[in-house]
Amino acid sequence: MGGMRLAEWIRNGVLAAGLALAAAAGVRAQDHVPAPSAGPAPVLAHAAPAAEAPMHHFADRENAWLFAGVGAARTLDYFSTLNMRRRGRHEILLTDEVVDNHAAFAAIEAAATALTIGAAYLLHRHGHHRLERWTSRIHIGLATGGAIRNYALQSAHPAPLPPGP
Ligand SMILES: [Zn+2]
Repeated sequence: MGGMRLAEWIRNGVLAAGLALAAAAGVRAQDHVPAPSAGPAPVLAHAAPAAEAPMHHFADRENAWLFAGVGAARTLDYFSTLNMRRRGRHEILLTDEVVDNHAAFAAIEAAATALTIGAAYLLHRHGHHRLERWTSRIHIGLATGGAIRNYALQSAHPAPLPPGP
């Protein structure tokens, strides 16, 4: 059961990177589809995809903010999980043993961040600058959602929400 939960957690952590890499591979595969043989081959392959963002430095301001956001989201996940553990709750995705070994758990969080940066770099190198950005955005969303879930789990007797404006 612990192994299953670990697998689930890892899937959450690297889902964005995996999706982005798969998408990159798909786009790349399309590049190699031979053109229809009738007539001279059109130079469609070199037409710039309108949806793609322009070239930029990998270590530009937007990526700096996005990677900082990924790191912050994973840090939030780290502390929200430890907070949950202190309250006697059990980590649902990782085994308690891993989470209670704080150094190992922190290393896993750091690895998840590094994996996203690595995936973004590969996408950047292949010219997929939009996917490159979205890899970080999706990771931030997943990690932050997990942290919110951890904090929401704390309260065993949720107070009724205040009436909206
Ligand atoms: Zn790029």
